[in-house]
Amino acid sequence: MQVKLVPTPVQAAALKHTLRTVNEAACWVSGVAFARGVPREYELRKHTYAELRETGLGAQVAQHVIKKVRDAYTSLHANLRAGNLGKKGSKRRIKVESKPIAFRPQAAQPYDDRCLSWQYDAQTVSIWTTAGRLKGVHFACSPNALKQLTTHRKGESDLVERDGMFYLIATCEVPEAETREPGGFIGVDLGIVNIATTSTGYRAAGRKLNRYRRRQLALRAKLQKKGTKSAKRLLAKQRRKESRRAKDINHRISKTIVTEAERTGRGISLEELTGIRERVRLRKPQRVALHSWAFAQLGEFIVYKARRAGVPVVFVDPAYSSQQCAECGHVDRLNRVSRAVFTCRGCGVVAHADRNASRVLARRGQGAWDAGRTSHVPATSPRS
Ligand SMILES: [Zn+2]
Repeated sequence: MQVKLVPTPVQAAALKHTLRTVNEAACWVSGVAFARGVPREYELRKHTYAELRETGLGAQVAQHVIKKVRDAYTSLHANLRAGNLGKKGSKRRIKVESKPIAFRPQAAQPYDDRCLSWQYDAQTVSIWTTAGRLKGVHFACSPNALKQLTTHRKGESDLVERDGMFYLIATCEVPEAETREPGGFIGVDLGIVNIATTSTGYRAAGRKLNRYRRRQLALRAKLQKKGTKSAKRLLAKQRRKESRRAKDINHRISKTIVTEAERTGRGISLEELTGIRERVRLRKPQRVALHSWAFAQLGEFIVYKARRAGVPVVFVDPAYSSQQCAECGHVDRLNRVSRAVFTCRGCGVVAHADRNASRVLARRGQGAWDAGRTSHVPATSPRS
């Protein structure tokens, strides 16, 4: 859960300086880690902790900096292994492997309860900074979010700076509802033209989002050409805005799907995420339309909302789901007449292609459930 801080100018300056300082420290630790072949956390601590303390960082904060660096390498390695950064020897991969991870001056810094305390009634926090402990820093949030924070906040929160504003991203542990036995499954087909199509008739068209992304892309090309400092800043802002927008849309789509499943007593059948990544490797104009991370995020949101609602989720192999008939099971490449139309060569049924695919996935979900596979959570995406 994210809350926006409303600091006084003096408090804002202290927060800004703090993030700058800890991220400079993180860059230094990252350099040490890189030079030493990225040792384990306790080993890395031996080489960096004392020096961090000497620069004036508190014990807690120094530990958090070291852990943050080690965690960043862990998720980088996981991404390399998963092939998210290109093949071995590719230009992109060599670029990330050849130098230490860098931390932006505004990058997120984790805070535990010793460095950050919450006063929910007053809507303030007390937070450690390089200028000492700041007390009574106001934060803004809705009454609903405040209730959620008060009852479920637990563990660490991240302090981040975005476009000159400060945010705290708090971890909330919401108890999961008990998973119930589903009466059937909703199949969810993911795609570019239709972001999500379900076997129960819901369709989230990607038209608006795709058009928006194309516009952003044109704007970005223009800014990149300019190459000035202000253009770069604008570029970064644009990128964040775009990812916020995709996130909003994913929240809406996942909510609709999970609510539908809850209402009708069904489970949800999703494509395995690796499958999605494969499928998103499309022709260039479409590739820019929607990135694989957006689909991965949609999958994550569905899983997380489903868990809270007690709706079971199964992941199924999406292979040939676009060529198989949901009525008779016949698989034929020629069944898929065009992007939108499915006509079965076996039984003659005509259907919307995405709807047919979602029904195939629904069937496979039921099959997987019956075979005794329970829901599992996919690997989380890297923190950005
Ligand atoms: Zn058929």
